[in-house]
Amino acid sequence: MRSVSRRAILAGSLAALTTSCATDFPSLPGARDPEAYSTPDSLVNFSTLGGASLGYEIGRSITTYKADPRFVELLEAWAQDWNALSGLGPMTTLWSYGAYVNKESSLHASGRAFDIAEVEHEQGSVSCRYDVWGPGSSTEIRDYWRLAASLQAHFGYTLTHLYNQAHHNHIHVDNARSQWEQSTFSAGSRVQVYVVQSAIRHVFGADVEVNGNWNNQTRDALRPIQASLGITRPMADADGWREFLRATASAT
Ligand SMILES: [Zn+2]
Repeated sequence: MRSVSRRAILAGSLAALTTSCATDFPSLPGARDPEAYSTPDSLVNFSTLGGASLGYEIGRSITTYKADPRFVELLEAWAQDWNALSGLGPMTTLWSYGAYVNKESSLHASGRAFDIAEVEHEQGSVSCRYDVWGPGSSTEIRDYWRLAASLQAHFGYTLTHLYNQAHHNHIHVDNARSQWEQSTFSAGSRVQVYVVQSAIRHVFGADVEVNGNWNNQTRDALRPIQASLGITRPMADADGWREFLRATASAT
């Protein structure tokens, strides 16, 4: 009964959506309680992440965003981690499509989501604009998935261009799944398996079909990569998951 009414609520709210992140909803049951959509008690402005200026991708102007203060802390922790792992020097400008948006039925309405279009560094940039560069050079693809892995290490829900067409121009992150805890791996999460398979194929150069299914060919391809990275903890272990993602983010 309860799940039926939730489905009805989701269906009703989806019909009213208009923005690029209209289809940001997780596949995991219970992860999107409608109460989570409510406007948070407090929102804070933020104008930098990891020392980088923030800009609005549409029109490319420098701007300030709003989000839940605890979510800004998560973003800042990611930004500092990515700065250290990227191999591209510090970020200088981060181009986004937005954080808090007051009309969406997604975690954006709670100030707990962020859309990344491109990160510019002192020594290069990583673009999430698959709509611009897709299918992409091996470097563009590799760097895209290194960035996605670094985000996945901090945000339980990281949506890439493989998720759907609405995400061809940005990577969406929110903490609906991980809440305020460490990101963990779920073999049943198609979006997480996409990140793992894409890392195997496009970052580490091993042969695997990228299909979102946690299967034997994926596990067989992953094992020697984990061994070469010195990772002994399994993906099911939160630290093993994080070690694999951070090693992917820093792979060159
Ligand atoms: Zn989004």
